[in-house]
Amino acid sequence: MFESRCGVNCSDCERKTQVKCKGCTEMKMPFWGGICGVKKCSEGRGLDHCGQCPDFPCGMLATMGVAEGFDPEPKIRRCRKWHLEETVTIRELIDDRDIAAAIKLAWCVFKQIEAPDYPEEGIQTFRQSLEDDTYIRRLRVYGAFENGALIGMLATRNGGSHIALFFLLGDARNRGIGRLLFERAKADNPERVMTVNAAPEAVDVYHALGFADTDSEQESDGLLYTPMATRE
Ligand code: SF4
Ligand code: SF4
Repeated sequence: MFESRCGVNCSDCERKTQVKCKGCTEMKMPFWGGICGVKKCSEGRGLDHCGQCPDFPCGMLATMGVAEGFDPEPKIRRCRKWHLEETVTIRELIDDRDIAAAIKLAWCVFKQIEAPDYPEEGIQTFRQSLEDDTYIRRLRVYGAFENGALIGMLATRNGGSHIALFFLLGDARNRGIGRLLFERAKADNPERVMTVNAAPEAVDVYHALGFADTDSEQESDGLLYTPMATRE
């Protein structure tokens, strides 16, 4: 839920009560009484926030507050996240056909991204795990949908505490969609820590999500992985 036009989280502001500010979206002028170019521009375009703008992030947004020593990046990231939450739906998949579609996506992305660097044994190990109905039925599977189409999937096992599968289509990468999937799975995890055996290509992604290595890289049945866990 957006709280401002520029990405500021007004509910986090400690001065809000002190300066009698109702929050960016609730007032015509900013509490300081001047004109905020970003608020004026965003509202003039009929947008709820800058993340919905085709010119996002424009120069004005990207430089707002920089001269005063503020970092615009957190606001830009938040606008991007608000927009993603409006356009991308994350949901747990219950229907067998939805789960089958997610498993198919995992296999297609694996073949394209990971398989070229794997020995045949590793490829077969992974394929057999996806064809193991008993194993798949034990997973908790989530899908990311954009305009009704499945664009990413994440599956957990061990009651939700271990990430078993995590794949995004090419167009869905580097947009924060993986983080939305991960946060959804994390919210359903009853344990304090989440674990994963990260494929070599995914190690940096998991570091960015807050995971740390718990052991050195391992090999099993042709698959290379680094055991990782979230920091408590
Ligand atoms: S800087 Fe402008 S757009 Fe951002 S919260 Fe303040 S008034 Fe709203
Ligand atoms: S991103 Fe820039 S151009 Fe777009 S609404 Fe915000 S301030 Fe205006």
